[in-house]
Amino acid sequence: MPIYEYVCRDCKKHFEVLTTSSRNTEPVKCPKCGSLNVAKTISASSFRVGSGRPSIPSGALSGCSSKSGFS
Ligand SMILES: [Zn+2]
Repeated sequence: MPIYEYVCRDCKKHFEVLTTSSRNTEPVKCPKCGSLNVAKTISASSFRVGSGRPSIPSGALSGCSSKSGFS
């Protein structure tokens, strides 16, 4: 389910809107001041969760600690 990020141009509040397939034509209102003067931004946070991790070889770290436990 896509989550869209909006920013209110009146009070500068950032908020997220969870869109459903049947209600995506409704106007988006600012939850803080109720203004309809909002702009949609690209939600970068949902993309970073899965694929933006640094490639740390965690297998080498756990292998090293388990090896010292054996001996
Ligand atoms: Zn607002």
